[in-house]
Amino acid sequence: MSRSIWFVAEHQDDQLHRGAAELAGAARAIGDETVAVVCAAPGGTVPQQVAPFVDRVLVVDDPALDPYTAGLWAQAIVALAKAQEPAAILLPHAPLGRDLAPVLAARLGAGLMTDCLELEWNEGLVGTRSVLRRKLVARERVATPIALATCQRGAFAAAPPQEAGAIEAVASSLDASTVRTRFVAMERAEVGEENITEADVVVAGGRGLGDAEKFGLVQELADVLGGVMGASRPVVDQGWVAHDRQIGSSGITVRPKLYFALGISGAVQHVVGMRESDVIVAINKDPQAPIFEYAHYGIAEDLFKVVPALIEALKA
Ligand SMILES: Cc1cc2nc3c(=O)[nH]c(=O)nc-3n(C[C@H](O)[C@H](O)[C@H](O)COP(=O)(O)OP(=O)(O)OC[C@H]3O[C@@H](n4cnc5c(N)ncnc54)[C@H](O)[C@@H]3O)c2cc1C
Repeated sequence: MSRSIWFVAEHQDDQLHRGAAELAGAARAIGDETVAVVCAAPGGTVPQQVAPFVDRVLVVDDPALDPYTAGLWAQAIVALAKAQEPAAILLPHAPLGRDLAPVLAARLGAGLMTDCLELEWNEGLVGTRSVLRRKLVARERVATPIALATCQRGAFAAAPPQEAGAIEAVASSLDASTVRTRFVAMERAEVGEENITEADVVVAGGRGLGDAEKFGLVQELADVLGGVMGASRPVVDQGWVAHDRQIGSSGITVRPKLYFALGISGAVQHVVGMRESDVIVAINKDPQAPIFEYAHYGIAEDLFKVVPALIEALKA
């Protein structure tokens, strides 16, 4: 029997979230068929935006689905899943997935793995994720006929666009009277983990910075480049920056267009969290530092000479 892997397409203001291509990539790698589920108000273009990444798009368009509420999106998706029985449904490990996935799991009686870093199909959906405050890595298999998983942003390679999949409109029969929450307002959050995983530019600093005060240089370069600051684990362990900045196997995974590694040696636990970045620039005074094996551009020099000069040049 062919294995159909679905994902829930995240969107806002009629713009598909770029993470949708990553979910499509994760789905393609483990299934025979990749399907995007779009819950939206009628007349939008999200189905057309997601179609090049999938074999099929299932669209439930109903004015009640915009703005998002877990209750109504779950009604729409549960009805579809019961009718078509996908092998798995993937969601982003972002506010949408964290909110919606447990509701879907409860209503479908389905097993759910959260915050997955890797997925494979091995007699069921098997997920890898960090547990116990990211000190251990766990592998789990979902044992129910429909498996649910939320996927960490940046951890999965985006599916390249292909010939657009078929768009199928599905009649909705939503009952808004059963929904127990109402949308009030949406406001943009301050910089945080979500911004690091979505930033085009990440400037990360390591133990080579020396102390918390000098770490300000990392923030300064990030600001000049319009990017976001990240860090290696020792920096976080020493309390120079908050835990949500830690990049690596026990932190977060990032995949920006441009990644700066300042005073970072390139230990494998750090590298797994950033090696898929489009362009990596490393500055390290040790020419033998392993980070240079992953860097597209390397500067073997004292960062306190290079970074201030770079900031001046960029400002000019
Ligand atoms: C289970 C486990 C999980 C882990 N998870 C993570 C994780 O999620 N993320 C993570 O980052 N690490 C993680 N680690 C730790 C990891 O193994 C490394 O110890 C860590 O990444 C090293 O951080 P660093 O590169 O900042 O420091 P160091 O390895 O000490 O490197 C500092 C670098 O700075 C350079 N330097 C010093 N001064 C200057 C200067 N003036 N100019 C230029 N360069 C300079 C040095 O040459 C050196 O290469 C984990 C370890 C374990 C065991």
